[in-house]
Amino acid sequence: MFKCSVCQKIYNTKVQYCDCGNDEFEEIPATKDSKSYAVNAQQLISWLIFGICIIISAWIWFGTDSPKPNHKPLPKKEVQNSQYIPSIDNIWDSTPAYNK
Ligand SMILES: [Zn+2]
Repeated sequence: MFKCSVCQKIYNTKVQYCDCGNDEFEEIPATKDSKSYAVNAQQLISWLIFGICIIISAWIWFGTDSPKPNHKPLPKKEVQNSQYIPSIDNIWDSTPAYNK
């Protein structure tokens, strides 16, 4: 790889003149290429973890919250219908304890 000494543009193959008109290039050793590849792999892993976190958070937001409104009203109605409160007059024993 060759880097222009004026505008720092990088060429994979050696060219006679850069786009800026310069004809002096610095040769870059090929080891930098493998380093950038390693950086790209790390970025890929970090983006992958970030994507998993986004998916999990979306699952928590939409996956667990959305069924609740469908299920919540039904048990409440059942509880209200099943509760029977008898009148206090039917339960209260108004006969005197000592009738003699
Ligand atoms: Zn240049």
